[in-house]
Amino acid sequence: MAKHKTHYEDCDVLVVGGGMAGTGATFEARHWGRDKKIICVEKANIDRSGAVAQGLYAINCYMGMQWGENQPEDHVRYARNDLMGMVREDLGYDMARHVDSTVHMFDEWGLPMMKNEETGRYLREGKWQIMIHGESYKPIVAEAAKKSADKIYNRIMITHLLMDENKENRVGGAVGFNMRTGDFHVFRAKAVIVAAGGASHIFKPRAVGEGMGRTWYAPWSNGSAYALPIAAGAKMTQMENRIVLCRFKDGYGPVGAYFLHLKTYTQNANGENYEKKWYEQTKELVGEYIDHHPTPTCLRNHAFIQETMAGGGPIHMVTTEAFQDPHLETVGWENFLGMTVGQAVVWASQNIDPKYTNPELTTSEPYVMGSHATCSGAWVSGPEDLSPPEYFWGYNRMLTIDGLFGAGDTVGGSAHKFSSGSFTEGRLAAKAAVKYIEDKKAEDLKVSDTQCEDFKTKVYKPLETYTVAQNEITGGTVSPSYISPIQGLQRLQRIMDEYVGGIATNYMTNANMLKRGLELLAWLEEDLENVGAEDYHQLMRAWELKHRALTSQCVTEHTMFREETRWPGYYYRGDHMKLDDDNWHCLTVSRRDPKTGKFSMEKVPVYHIVDENEKKKAS
Ligand SMILES: Cc1cc2nc3c(=O)[nH]c(=O)nc-3n(C[C@H](O)[C@H](O)[C@H](O)COP(=O)(O)OP(=O)(O)OC[C@H]3O[C@@H](n4cnc5c(N)ncnc54)[C@H](O)[C@@H]3O)c2cc1C
Repeated sequence: MAKHKTHYEDCDVLVVGGGMAGTGATFEARHWGRDKKIICVEKANIDRSGAVAQGLYAINCYMGMQWGENQPEDHVRYARNDLMGMVREDLGYDMARHVDSTVHMFDEWGLPMMKNEETGRYLREGKWQIMIHGESYKPIVAEAAKKSADKIYNRIMITHLLMDENKENRVGGAVGFNMRTGDFHVFRAKAVIVAAGGASHIFKPRAVGEGMGRTWYAPWSNGSAYALPIAAGAKMTQMENRIVLCRFKDGYGPVGAYFLHLKTYTQNANGENYEKKWYEQTKELVGEYIDHHPTPTCLRNHAFIQETMAGGGPIHMVTTEAFQDPHLETVGWENFLGMTVGQAVVWASQNIDPKYTNPELTTSEPYVMGSHATCSGAWVSGPEDLSPPEYFWGYNRMLTIDGLFGAGDTVGGSAHKFSSGSFTEGRLAAKAAVKYIEDKKAEDLKVSDTQCEDFKTKVYKPLETYTVAQNEITGGTVSPSYISPIQGLQRLQRIMDEYVGGIATNYMTNANMLKRGLELLAWLEEDLENVGAEDYHQLMRAWELKHRALTSQCVTEHTMFREETRWPGYYYRGDHMKLDDDNWHCLTVSRRDPKTGKFSMEKVPVYHIVDENEKKKAS
């Protein structure tokens, strides 16, 4: 262990992850904490890290309040509708009321915004989306963070949170390692903001073997945002609410601009509008939710999945009409060139010119994330002026561990934040974190050398395991005493795929399958004590896998707990196929006991704050 040098850094605010939420948090922490020491630690390089690494073509969350386009209440109603009623409206409203100011800063910082030539306003792609030339979106927000932080550490993966030894349930910082130098890093901090993105690759992806890594969600998002707080005993919410995306096949190119701006539409292999065909069947399952506008994302997926299972596939996007217009054709291609170049390459390799051939669509494997059209993540306190008592414990976006905050994909219950909303939520969390420090809530922190050394031993164990056990190999690469990160990953993905509602079963699961899945996940956890890493890159893979496995356990426990099919099209509980508002119009909350590793589950009321307040005002 001595060969790995330990670096200590003491700071006020530690931001884990320099993606959209992390850059927002770092920027805002400096605004409120001029005299504070602010550190941001990023697994990759902040200039091109996270889900926005490659750029975006649209900012998906902008109210346009200055022009009276939308109000925060409208956005709450929209997110509530899309998530079949299950959102934290206090968090959604809070984000929505601040998101426009974030977008205006992006504009000032030089992000090229498309303008409507007639009105001079930002060019709308849809009701909530505005169009940008966003190839450099990430470097632009990274610059704001770099100018705000005392130091940005790149290439350090945070593996564990440190806990205060003087006061129970209070965070004390985090530890991790540099995957280039191999050095161990201890960050003792008064407040920690976890902004480490969502989780891909916990379910088996459609593309395996030579296509591995080709997923919709960023392949490097490994669930640290969930595993770090879960391991420390923080409560989580809605972890069953995984997302399945309908996207262009093989390249996972986005469809938003196509539907909203190009006005393309989908049809089955016979050229029929298949969504209509499944109306009555869906109504049987979810009742009046199918009549809501816009149709909830999961229900549109449901029609796609049913149609494909009934033999109506492949499903196509009809592009051949829109692409006859040269302007729309240009937009269609630029949409990919600014953020998903791979889709254009896939079409070229498959001889598809969307002007003459309607490209195929597919539904993805499930992902876990809190900022898109689902809301898995940590159970956090809301803002003091909006949140009912069950949702408020002192500091906005603070988890159920004192001093530990979250933003972006980390935070559960608040869907449809997207890039701008995640940055905004980072700002909100940072403001609260600075106040937490100024209120002297982080006095007398104690993080002993023993705690740090224990983590150090754990972190490097996969290197030790490999070094010792490779001597037992007599031929090939398979060891009797360790598994490699890729072997462990593939085993995890199969468990999740086959038992927890992945593509193998057309997203179907039930209590028996989930129970078996949990058993297999427990044995995997045991075996992951013997994961071996031959170098620092593989050490990162080993820790990514451990974080994915812990996140998966939580997802499975939640899926088991909610005995209904709330979101057909995201997953199905075959033993409870119908939506059940009488028993399950509530949020699910879990906690894993760090000492025993056992999860406990509870139901928490879902408050419909926006319209309740309006009803009260009217009466
Ligand atoms: C394919 C795709 C397309 C999208 N399209 C749009 C769009 O068109 N418009 C829009 O507005 N939004 C879009 N979004 C949503 C937007 O990208 C996310 O909402 C946003 O990036 C979430 O912010 P975040 O900070 O939570 O996660 P991220 O931005 O992903 O950042 C997480 C960061 O944490 C780092 N990290 C992870 N683990 C660790 C660790 N253990 N230690 C240290 N660092 C770590 C990662 O490297 C990363 O930099 C899209 C998302 C995806 C996946």
